[in-house]
Amino acid sequence: MLEKIVIANRGEIALRILRACKELGIKTVATYSVADREQKHVYLADESVCIGPATSIDSYLNIPAVISAAEVTDAVGIHPGYGFLSENADFAERVEQSGFTFVGPKAETIRVMGDKVSAIKAMKKAGIPCVPGSDGPLGDDSKQLIKTAKEIGYPVIIKAAGGGGGRGMRVVYSEATLLKSITLTRAEAAAAFSNDIVYMEKFLEHPRHIEIQILADEHGNVIYLAERDCSMQRRHQKVIEEAPAPGLSEKTRKKIGELCVKACKKISYRGAGTFEFLYENEEFYFIEMNTRIQVEHPVTEMITGVDIVKEQLRVASGDPLNYKQADIKVRGHAIECRINAEDPETFLPSPGIIEHYHPPGGFGIRVDTHVYQGYKVPPYYDSMIGKLIAHAETRELAISRLSMALSEIVIDGIKTNIPLHQNLVQDTAFAAGGTDIHYLENKLGIK
Ligand code: ADP
Repeated sequence: MLEKIVIANRGEIALRILRACKELGIKTVATYSVADREQKHVYLADESVCIGPATSIDSYLNIPAVISAAEVTDAVGIHPGYGFLSENADFAERVEQSGFTFVGPKAETIRVMGDKVSAIKAMKKAGIPCVPGSDGPLGDDSKQLIKTAKEIGYPVIIKAAGGGGGRGMRVVYSEATLLKSITLTRAEAAAAFSNDIVYMEKFLEHPRHIEIQILADEHGNVIYLAERDCSMQRRHQKVIEEAPAPGLSEKTRKKIGELCVKACKKISYRGAGTFEFLYENEEFYFIEMNTRIQVEHPVTEMITGVDIVKEQLRVASGDPLNYKQADIKVRGHAIECRINAEDPETFLPSPGIIEHYHPPGGFGIRVDTHVYQGYKVPPYYDSMIGKLIAHAETRELAISRLSMALSEIVIDGIKTNIPLHQNLVQDTAFAAGGTDIHYLENKLGIK
C-alpha cells in the first residue's frame, strides 16, 4: 500500500480522500491555498503544505507547487480528487515522471478521454453506442457544415472537444443560425479551453443522463458498479443524483455494464471511471468518459457497499480490486443533493461565514461536507459546500428520508440551495422517477 500521499484538492472531496487513507493506514499531506487554511482536512491530515495564493491558477492548478509538496514531504503518490488537475494529462505525466504514483488512469488514457472527439472515436471502436454526429472535428467549409447538420437532422448541438463543467455547448434548431453558432462556440472554446476544436451531435430532446461507474485494476480485472441517474440538471450541471436509475431493468444494466467493461479492457483502463450516456427510447448514447472520482460517487457506494475511493487507492498501489462482478449487488436506493452556497432563486454564489450549522442524521443519512459552524466559505472556488445522501430499501423511502433530512439541516449565515431541494423532493414528477435532463430548467422557467 502507498505509504503517504498528497491530497491535491480541497473541500469535501479532500476530506473524503483523507478518510479513505486513514482507513487504509496511508499517511496524508493536505495541500491548501492561503484562503483554505481553516479547512477541516488540513487540521486532520498528518502534514500540510500551503501551495500558494487563493486564486486556483496559483495554487490548486499550479503543477510545480503540487509536485513540490510531494517532494518536500516524502510522499509517494498524489490523489487529484475531481476538478482542478484531476483530468489534466500533463499533470498525470509529470507526477509519474517525477517518480510519484498518480492515483488515476495512465496519462495517455486521460489524454484520449479528455478530448471528446478522440474519446468518441475510441469508444466507437470499442463497441460503445454514441450519439449520431459529425464523426470528428468540424472544418471550415460552410457547405459541408450545412450538409453534416442536415444529415444528422435538426436540432443539433455544437460541442467543444475540450469542454467540461457543462460549458462549451450550443444548441442549433435550424440552418439559419448554424454557421454563426459554430463560429461562436469555436471562439468560446478557444478562450475557455485553449482548444478551438468543435464537433456536432444530434441534440437529443428528451433524454435522461445515465452513467456507469467502473473500477479497473492493473491485473486485468474490470467491474461495473451499476448506474446513476443524473438527469436533474441546471445549465448541464447535476443538482440531484441517484442510484440505481428508476425503471432500468437488471437486464439493461447488465448489457450496458458489460459493454463498458469490455471497452475498459480494450483501452487498458486503470482506476475508477465513469461512462456518461444519454438515454432515450431505451437506447444508450455515449457522451463522454470521466477518468476520475465523481462528485456523485456516494450514491453508488451506498447501494453497492463498495468504498470507491479506497478501491482507487488499492489499484494505485498495484493491488487487485477487492471485488469481483458477482460480489456487486444493488441494495435499495440512494439519492444525493448537492448543497451549494448560492441564492436558491438567482443561483448567485453566496460566500461568507456559516453562523449556525446543524447537520441532519438518522438511519440511512450520509453527509459529506467539510464545513462546520464558524467556517468561512471562500468566494474563490466552486460553490458546492457539501452533499446530503439518503439511502433506503426503496426509492420512495429514500425520498422520504431525504425530505426529513432537508427539514432538519440548518446552515445559517449564507444562502444555500436547500430550499430548492426541499421543493424538488415534493415534486410529483420527481417522485414518479425518470424525468429527463430538461425537467428542472422547465420547472424553473429557464430556457
Ligand atoms: P461536460 O463535460 O461539460 O459535463 P457533457 O458532454 O458530459 O459535458 O454533457 C453535459 C450535459 O449536456 C449532458 O448531461 C446533457 O444534459 C447535455 N448534453 C450533452 N450532449 C447532448 C446531446 N447530444 N443532446 C442533448 N443534450 C446533451
